[in-house]
Amino acid sequence: MKQLRIFPKSSPDRNPDALLRLFVVIALVSTFVIISVAGLVFVEVLQRHVIRNAEEDAIKVSSALLATDRRRLTSRQPDGSLKVVVAPADLPEMDRHFRRFLSPFDIVKIKIYSADSRIVYSTEPALIGKVDSHNSRLDHALDGLFDSKLERKEEVKDLASESKFNVDVVETYIPIWDNGRVIGSFEVYIDVTKYRDDTANTAALALGAVAGLLIIVFGISYFLIRRGTREIKEIQEVLTKQTMTDALTGTFNKSQIELLACKEFDRCSRRKEKGHSDADLGFIMIDIDRFKEVNDSYGHLAGDVLLQQFAARITRSLRSYDSIGRFGGEEFLVMLPGSDLEQTRMVAQKIWSLLRDEPYLVEGEEITLTASLGAAAVKEGDPDLLHVLKRADQRLYAAKSAGRDRVV
Ligand code: GH3
Ligand code: MG
Ligand code: MG
Repeated sequence: MKQLRIFPKSSPDRNPDALLRLFVVIALVSTFVIISVAGLVFVEVLQRHVIRNAEEDAIKVSSALLATDRRRLTSRQPDGSLKVVVAPADLPEMDRHFRRFLSPFDIVKIKIYSADSRIVYSTEPALIGKVDSHNSRLDHALDGLFDSKLERKEEVKDLASESKFNVDVVETYIPIWDNGRVIGSFEVYIDVTKYRDDTANTAALALGAVAGLLIIVFGISYFLIRRGTREIKEIQEVLTKQTMTDALTGTFNKSQIELLACKEFDRCSRRKEKGHSDADLGFIMIDIDRFKEVNDSYGHLAGDVLLQQFAARITRSLRSYDSIGRFGGEEFLVMLPGSDLEQTRMVAQKIWSLLRDEPYLVEGEEITLTASLGAAAVKEGDPDLLHVLKRADQRLYAAKSAGRDRVV
């Protein structure tokens, strides 16, 4: 007997269910990643929009203040250059004017710096005269660049000196130019807290739309893939069955019955080694007598039908855990787990009479068949399956030699 073939198990990545599970995992992970990234991008874009609007407002406001109060805010130096400076006598009047001017806007604070980083005016009077020497953003502004930043403040005092808590503020530095030279800078604080909810709502809405789209796309893909995997599974089942069964008789084919027998023999040997008493295993080789003559007399097609009926009779007589396989042309192997030699002989006797006692009906014609059977069971000292099957085969040929139509 040839070395037995073992059918390759389908690897997990070729298993349709595993593919579907993989798709679900990928879909969930990508949804999470896409929503997270989109959320960050939306919030960033919306915040930039808020900052840009606040910056534009700050520029407009500072330009307007500079236009109306240029005389009080600057003074011409002996060398002809202009300097940002406020005479102490002008401060109260300028402060009143600024506050009146700024009150309709969401401005909470304003500072004006000279080119040497000194605060010449602030809506917070205590800061006037101080030098802000370690302020890189102010340095940028004094280099001629706008600089805006959104910050969350726990507490700020507005122009009316009232405290506001948990406030979003855009701080913008706006350079003051004269004749191509930066001579100072405004620092304007605009309260943008009212846009916070808008930002959150717009981001949530956009994320909701993205999530909805993803659910639709992944949902449709899931159902399509699931339908595909079901079809693949059905095809796989059909193919697996086809590789295991004999097309004519529907019994197992030779390789499958050999595989099952091999497994059962190993199981049996293990149970025997462990001292279990119920470790019996019986085999019956069955061969139709003079089948060539039947073919010659009734034709090959009738022979096929006979083979089907013959196999069906044996199959019907077996228990659910017995197996039958087509071992050769008109030769079958029956495996009886749990049966010792005597029980195997009794089953063989039953099959023998079942096969011969009733005639077979082919195309309205009754045909009688007989068969020869060789029975064997695994016994102490059998090194492998081949030994037992050889014994059954020898007994089958002994039955043939003794005149056929019998069990040996
Ligand atoms: P015996 O076994 O009693 O010695 O004689 P036999 O005529 O049965 O033995 P042999 O092995 O010489 O012939 C077996 C025949 O079985 C040969 C072949 O025509 C027939 N056979 C094998 N497979 C098929 C099949 O699939 N369909 C049909 N119709 N006949 C088959
Ligand atoms: Mg034969
Ligand atoms: Mg034969």
